[in-house]
Amino acid sequence: MGERDEKYLLIALGGNAFQTKGEVGTPENYWRNAYRAAETIVRIVKEGYRVAITHGNGPQVGVIMEWMERSKDVIPPMSMDIAGAMTQGWLGYLLMQSIHNILIKYGIKDSVKGVVAIVNQVLVSKEDPAWRNPTKYVGSYFAEEEAKKLAKEKGWTFKPDPRGGWRRVVPSPDPKENVEVEAVKKLLNEGWIVVASGGGGIPVIRNSDGSLQGVEAVIDKDLAGEVLATALEVGTFVVLTDVDGAYIDFGKPTQRKIDVMTASEAEKYYKQGHFKPGAMGPKVLASIRFVRRGGKKAIIGHLYKGYEVIKGLSGTMIVPD
Ligand code: ADP
Ligand code: MG
Repeated sequence: MGERDEKYLLIALGGNAFQTKGEVGTPENYWRNAYRAAETIVRIVKEGYRVAITHGNGPQVGVIMEWMERSKDVIPPMSMDIAGAMTQGWLGYLLMQSIHNILIKYGIKDSVKGVVAIVNQVLVSKEDPAWRNPTKYVGSYFAEEEAKKLAKEKGWTFKPDPRGGWRRVVPSPDPKENVEVEAVKKLLNEGWIVVASGGGGIPVIRNSDGSLQGVEAVIDKDLAGEVLATALEVGTFVVLTDVDGAYIDFGKPTQRKIDVMTASEAEKYYKQGHFKPGAMGPKVLASIRFVRRGGKKAIIGHLYKGYEVIKGLSGTMIVPD
């Protein structure tokens, strides 16, 4: 790969690549959405871009946790890191097959070596302040009494969810390192479309002897995407979501989409609270980090306009100062 080649992309796919608002999430829903995302990806590949992909997994981890909760009397529940690994297989498979099939449809299958999704661990720190302040709601909704019982039994933390009921909360530590990045890099450089760091990666900590260990946490997929993009040394970091860019005063009558901003401008708006935590916030933060760590540009835009976003015709671009 040439130094920070802008033809090398890391694309982060949001929830709408698999499930859109109001859908119940049947296999048919999943396939239709995955094919729609695959159309976007293949259109970009057709233009000669080399692409690595990451994706979220929030709703799918939620589904797995609900399954485990409902069947816990007959099948032992798995831990959260294992649930995360399951979603990487589930969603990675959807992307592998749909992209492969769309490459055939467009007659360009031979322009890439193939499509591969990997099970991928992401390192977090034992010292991360997030451990003392779990914030991410996961799994089923419980009545207060049952939540308190479970908290005692399992040592979990529960909080009342603004949407109603009590829910388990887990920490969302900052991703530090993508454990299998060298393999991803090799595959990308050899011409594969690689799906990695799914759901922000399986969260692991490293012990003093170098051994790894899964932890009960979730990692933001945009922040983990940046860690991967930076380590891969791609030129462009692309976040495809369900909104056409980052807005100032989002949701207010004065709202305005930003077309281009420097890292410092983005940081100023970020600190003023324009980008909602857990939604647009991490996308902008990841973009700032990416361009400050040597990336050429980051772009945030709508999944269905992915091609225009890459071309700079749609979305919000974040550039170095
Ligand atoms: P994804 O699954 O793609 O990560 P998220 O729901 O996490 O999607 O983030 C995208 C959402 O962020 C948008 O649907 C929008 O409602 C919300 N959002 C919050 N603040 C802003 C903002 N300032 N500009 C644009 N969208 C915003
Ligand atoms: Mg998100």
